[in-house]
Amino acid sequence: MTPLAKRIADPIVPNSGVLPKRAVELKILHPEDHPAPTATQPAAPPVASEELLAELAEHSARLETASPQEIITWAAETYAPRLGMATAFGPEGCVILHMLATLAPETYVFNLDTGYQFKETLELRDRIAERYGIEVELRKPELSVAEYEAAHGGPVYETDSNQCCFDRKIKVLQQAARELDGWMSGIRRDQSSHRAKAPIVGWDKKFGLVKISPLANWTKEQVWKIITDEKVPYNPLHDQGYTSIGCQPCTRQVLFGEDERAGRWSGSGKTECGLHTADD
Ligand code: SF4
Repeated sequence: MTPLAKRIADPIVPNSGVLPKRAVELKILHPEDHPAPTATQPAAPPVASEELLAELAEHSARLETASPQEIITWAAETYAPRLGMATAFGPEGCVILHMLATLAPETYVFNLDTGYQFKETLELRDRIAERYGIEVELRKPELSVAEYEAAHGGPVYETDSNQCCFDRKIKVLQQAARELDGWMSGIRRDQSSHRAKAPIVGWDKKFGLVKISPLANWTKEQVWKIITDEKVPYNPLHDQGYTSIGCQPCTRQVLFGEDERAGRWSGSGKTECGLHTADD
């Protein structure tokens, strides 16, 4: 059995908190899980079988009415210890961390540390560690910012933001993916048209992983209610008009009435770094 063949949970009774298990093997077609790249061949992500896609769709449909806590519990019971969560410390990520602290505190959580993040974001990582004891790992690109800019004759985000995001985010997650079977993200369907069709559980072709989005059908208001009620640590830049926070050079405050992601790569037509877009 490959590491990607998994035991999965029986159907959850919504909000029951009861998660009985049965053994079902999920097979991936690719014979080797996350093969390492060679000198001549880049690493290809594993490919999901039709059987696996159908199983994931079934789970996703069933989990549509489950709470985020039940989805997180299912994900941890199904994929740990090869479950990871990627966070940029946005409000949604902080809420998931808050839930993980009681449901599955041993879950591996990481941040794609491009070298261009706000100092407030990095400080939030330490506040999360203090509050919950969860040490989010900062995963960095091969080259430091100074080395990267020297190699390209200046900041690449000014000339080719897609390349910069690829080099400093996507490649880093591709590397992390080789250590995982599933990853969780904090995306919500109502954040953008790209995210509107995000399943609760699905196959992420780009990274060759099962992707779980526990907050997919939550609203911004539900997220902020938890933050306020439970005093969850959050990025203070949100109080200064930054509704969505990425790298400092590519993020601005939004104006009244603008879309919540309007401050990302403003004026460039780019709306996503590529982590959450499907390459169909
Ligand atoms: S958000 Fe901007 S600085 Fe950050 S990786 Fe993408 S292009 Fe580079």
